[in-house]
Amino acid sequence: MIDITMPITPDMQVYKQRDAKKPHFEVAATFEENGVYETKLTFNLHTGTHIDFPLHTLKEGASSTNHDIMDYIGDATVFDLSHLEEKITLKDIADLNIEADDFIIFKTSNTVRHNQATDFVYLAHDAASYLADKGIRGVGIDALGIERNQPNHPTHDALLEKGIIILEGAVLDKVSEGKYTLMCFPMKIDNVEALPVRAFLQP
Ligand SMILES: [Zn+2]
Repeated sequence: MIDITMPITPDMQVYKQRDAKKPHFEVAATFEENGVYETKLTFNLHTGTHIDFPLHTLKEGASSTNHDIMDYIGDATVFDLSHLEEKITLKDIADLNIEADDFIIFKTSNTVRHNQATDFVYLAHDAASYLADKGIRGVGIDALGIERNQPNHPTHDALLEKGIIILEGAVLDKVSEGKYTLMCFPMKIDNVEALPVRAFLQP
């Protein structure tokens, strides 16, 4: 199995490198004072490798409570679109073999750049609508956001309106194009719009 999870650390990369999005680690108990060691971690649920549920951009959308874990466990196909420089558009994916019920993951030049840029490659609205019409289960990308700088986040809406799960922050350095089994395990936190996951791809 290939681990595609980003480690959560104090200085990790976060969406657009905004300080407010960084996780905060605090020592909550020490051996000297408490006889045990404990850590308190405060972090945004969109930290590192995570899934977005419809509630993220849709007011009445389904939350983590209403979702079936089998949506993000099962068949997945990775497509390598590393040649694209700005975004993934419909014309870039129209000829790919994308089938209903598959979980589609895009490997882009973000992997080489390790997501560091604020100008990360993203999924454009027309490509998201196409994927939504295809009836896929989910879509993943090697950026901390699946879109950027599109007013009113139409890529999220097009996917989430159809209940299509979005996997953001996938680490794809060791992953090449092909068929896999995707395993995403989130914590069981009720009624939230996103959850960090431990995720694997099995060739
Ligand atoms: Zn997110």
